Order: sequence, then C-alpha cells, then structure tokens
Amino acid sequence: MGRRKKIVEQCERLMDNPEQIRNIAIAAHVDHGKTTLTDNLLAGAGMISDETAGQQLAMDTEEDEQERGITIDAANVSMTHEYEGDDHLVNLIDTPGHVDFGGDVTRAMRAVDGALVVVDAVEGAMPQTETVVRQALREGVKPALFINKVDRLISELQEGPEEMQQRLLDVIEDVNELIRGMTEDMDDIDDWTVSVEDGTVAFGSALYKWGVSMPSMQATGIDFGDIIDLERADKRQELHERTPLSDVVLDMVAEHFPDPFDAQPRRIPTIWRGDADSDLAHDMRDVDPDGEVVLMVTDIGIDPHAGEIAAGRVFSGTIEKGQDLYVSGTAGTNRVQSVGIYMGGEREEVEKVPAGNIAAVTGLKDAIAGSTVSSVEMTPFESIEHISEPVITKS
Ligand code: GDP
Repeated sequence: MGRRKKIVEQCERLMDNPEQIRNIAIAAHVDHGKTTLTDNLLAGAGMISDETAGQQLAMDTEEDEQERGITIDAANVSMTHEYEGDDHLVNLIDTPGHVDFGGDVTRAMRAVDGALVVVDAVEGAMPQTETVVRQALREGVKPALFINKVDRLISELQEGPEEMQQRLLDVIEDVNELIRGMTEDMDDIDDWTVSVEDGTVAFGSALYKWGVSMPSMQATGIDFGDIIDLERADKRQELHERTPLSDVVLDMVAEHFPDPFDAQPRRIPTIWRGDADSDLAHDMRDVDPDGEVVLMVTDIGIDPHAGEIAAGRVFSGTIEKGQDLYVSGTAGTNRVQSVGIYMGGEREEVEKVPAGNIAAVTGLKDAIAGSTVSSVEMTPFESIEHISEPVITKS
C-alpha cells in the first residue's frame, strides 16, 4: 500500500475518537516562517520527504500564490502524530499571512481549537501577530507560541546566551500582553498566557528543522548551550536529527491544545446563539456523531474535476454522501456528492466524516464561506467578524 493511502487510512481510524483529534491553525505575520514550519510538520508526518521540506511549499496550492510567494488560500491538511503512546489526528488549517486576507484568517479560526502563533525571533511580534492572536482569542481558540529563526540570532547576530534569552523572553512577554489584554474579561477562558515552563512555548529554526521546548530539553538533554555550540559549528543536520522540530511542535499540539470534547462545550455558546437547551445544542456540545449534522463552512475551494468544495468544521453528526442538507440563507436542500479530507492541498475521498473533524464536501452548491450546513433547519452560526487592522499598534 502507498504511503499516502496508509496515512489516509490512519486518519480515518482516528476520526471517531475526539480525544485524539486536534484541529489547529498556524498563524503568523508574513515571512515569519509559517510555510516552512508547515513543511516540517508534513515531512515529520511522512507526507513529503525530509529533504524537500522548506523548499516544496506544499501548502501553496494556487499558481498565483507561488508567483507572489505568499500564502493566499487557506489550504488544509490532516496528519497523524504519536504522542505518549497514542496516535493523534492533527487537522491543520493553513492561514494567509498577508494583511489583505484578514477575513480568511478569521474564518479559519472558526474551524479550529488551537492556534500555533509563529513569531520571527529577529523581528519580534509584529502588528499582524497581534491581529492573529486577537482573531484566535475572539473565537475561543487557544494559542501556543513558536519562536522561529533562532538560528539567525546565533549565526547572524552572534548573540550570546544571555542576550538571546532576553530577546526570547521579550517576545513571549509581548505575546502574553496581548493574550492578557484580550482574555481578562472573558469568564469562559482561564489563564491562556504562554510560558516556557509549562511547555506552551517552543523555539527553533524551521529552515534548519530543529526545535526545542522545556519538555523536549528534558527528554533529549539538548539545551540552549548545546544549540549555540552546534549551530556555530555548522552542525545543523545533527541538531535536526537529535531534536527534530516536527516532534517538538506536534508534541506541544497534542499536549496543550484542546480536543473537540474540551473545546466545543466552551465554544458553542460563543459562536451559536440558538436555544442552549435544544437537542441540537446538546449534539454540538457533546460532539455527537449520531446527532443532527451541523457543518460550518470556512472555505470554498475549486477542484478542476469535482468543482466547488466546501471545507469546514463538523460540529455534530456525521457527514456522508447522499445526505440532503440545508444551507443557511437559501431555500431547499443540497445533496452531498462526496466527502473527503485534505492531504496537502489535495483531497482524499473518505466514506464519512464524523463530528469534531474538518471535512471537504462537494455538492453543496449554495454554500459560501460562512454558511451553516445542517440536516435540520437551524439558527445559523454567528457571522464571523473580520479584524483586518490591529487595534493597538506597537511602537
Ligand atoms: P511565511 O510567509 O510565514 O509562510 O514564511 P516562509 O515560510 O515563506 O518563510 C519566509 C522566509 O524566511 C523564507 O525565505 C524562508 O526560507 C525563511 N525562513 C523560514 N524559517 C526560517 C528559519 O528558521 N531561519 C531562517 N534563517 N530563515 C527562515
């Protein structure tokens, strides 16, 4: 069996276990390394070869995008990762890094429960970092931080351990200031600030494919002193082999991001204003695969063969071919022609996609990004507010 087919089968097996599912987005200021990090994760999951990670730009599916060198379309990918003896299904939604595409970032946040915020160690938190953190928190999406391009602090800026530590702590503090400012008045969110000690911050180099976090340092014995020595000695391949970035980041995702059982009871009251005591509300809060089908469409893509594809989060029920589903704001129903999952820009058809997952559905001809699609007529999800401009701009 081909590698790809095996991965699809593995994903399908895990789809029924919400405890093992993590729906995540990677969000960053343009050029901070989102695409390069994504390639690391795909290589770590065996989906692209290790050598091409960083060059392949697997998520950049549109020609236009490759020409412009920025990620425009929110492409999605599912992958598996073993953490503490259990396989996890990680559904990753890529988000545009360019400020013009703020609306797409917000929509992607509706589908996920965790946001990996990437910040360039040299540039620090930028206005768009602030925008993506705000977008995540407004949607009840939990942040974790990856500080990228740490190699540049060592090799280019020739920083010593203290200087480097101070710079990294400053980045963390800047991000935490944003998180504190946004979450102080939210009673449904506990302390979501990130810290090195609790493992919600990782550092590394997406270009050279190594990374560290507090738990990884404890597991591998590789600390900042070793990193500085190996980077300076140009032993980056050794660093990658001894402390691979994809493992560090995916371990962080599995450990710290909420699964759909944790996330949906908290998120549903924020994003849906229908009757909280109804069966439908229970179906969604419980991530019930046998409940009514409820899908929130976050992106419409075009497949040259299949036509329009609606991608989104299944909050309850199980989507299958042949179902007749209502689309908010339109009359009548649309029939599901196929359901699938995304494997790096391409779609793989599967039998069904149960609650708690991201699905790619064809046949929903009336759906647009933002539509609520369901097996019974229902109050649609709250519309997704765009934040294109940072409200507070850093000096
Ligand atoms: P995106 O716009 O956030 O998707 O950023 P990209 O992943 O396209 O990276 C932007 C640029 O930064 C590219 O030239 C990458 O090769 C480079 N880059 C990404 N990660 C690193 C890193 O860890 N170290 C260094 N030195 N360069 C990096």
